[in-house]
Amino acid sequence: MKDFEYFRPKTIDEAVSLYREGGKGARLLAGGTELVNEIRFGKSQPDLVVDLKHIRELDFMHPGPEGVSIGALYRVGDAEHSRLLLESRYNAISHAAGTLGSPQVRNKATIVGNVCRASPSADLIPPLMALGAMARIVGDGTERSVPVEDMLVGPGRTVLNMGEIVTELEIPDMPDYSGCSYYKLSPRKSLDLAVVGAAVMIRTDPRVSRCIDARIVLGAVAPTSMRAKRAEAMLIGAKPRELTIDAAAQAAAEDSKPLDDVRASAWYRKRMVEVVVRRTIGLALEQVKTRR
Ligand SMILES: Cc1cc2nc3c(=O)[nH]c(=O)nc-3n(C[C@H](O)[C@H](O)[C@H](O)COP(=O)(O)OP(=O)(O)OC[C@H]3O[C@@H](n4cnc5c(N)ncnc54)[C@H](O)[C@@H]3O)c2cc1C
Repeated sequence: MKDFEYFRPKTIDEAVSLYREGGKGARLLAGGTELVNEIRFGKSQPDLVVDLKHIRELDFMHPGPEGVSIGALYRVGDAEHSRLLLESRYNAISHAAGTLGSPQVRNKATIVGNVCRASPSADLIPPLMALGAMARIVGDGTERSVPVEDMLVGPGRTVLNMGEIVTELEIPDMPDYSGCSYYKLSPRKSLDLAVVGAAVMIRTDPRVSRCIDARIVLGAVAPTSMRAKRAEAMLIGAKPRELTIDAAAQAAAEDSKPLDDVRASAWYRKRMVEVVVRRTIGLALEQVKTRR
């Protein structure tokens, strides 16, 4: 392992300026569950590491009239157990959090780190995309908001420029008669990545007899988490009954772009997308009925 400089700033401004000055050789560290492994196994050889963990203003999750904000240091394990999230329409975030790694990993890993790592099989990205989350990105004298969906460029790659830090995620308010669910298919119950992940957000009329809006996001079946837009269009305006749901699930499977890897073949993954999407639409509809 190569030696590197280590900084522990206490403010966002300090972190941004250290990160910018470090240039190409600088890396940010949040929970460190990815980065520390990358450094240990030589996949990443930074000259300088900027540890965000001591910037207290980044450690928060709070609901507001316009939705929920999640700071860059809010941990996956906090989200898993947050009553506030669990008892709200945003509980898909808690459920997805509970499927990531192991309790030890979840106690360190951050939700924002999961987004910035941009793994195709990331568990938090699909529900965040389904909920329409925006990332607030701060750079040297700059600030911008980007939908999480538009942050992902490819496996491990995002639109973040050199010196930019994601400070928080903003999840918009969920209207009445809407629900969101996440389902992860993996061979083992813990410490395993998704073979297929799916998040579904559905909004219906008050009688749950017509679908007004839908977002379906697939994980682990494309280079980045992807929207299944043809499937969404089949649901919007339709009655949420078995035939429509089956057709949407089939369209999602057809549009997925999985690869063969050690976890599963592309053939198996495609078939499982159909099963998982059908199931997750059902779960999201249950949320609509129980959380008006
Ligand atoms: C044993 C094990 C099991 C795992 N299982 C799963 C799993 O089941 N599902 C899953 O999705 N993931 C899994 N992971 C991956 C990992 O734990 C998650 O991606 C985690 O959420 C990363 O968060 P972190 O805070 O630890 O990120 P870090 O390791 O600190 O950082 C990850 C990357 O994001 C960048 N980054 C972090 N914060 C910011 C920020 N605020 N602004 C800009 N860039 C930033 C870092 O520079 C780095 O490149 C597993 C990891 C391990 C070690």
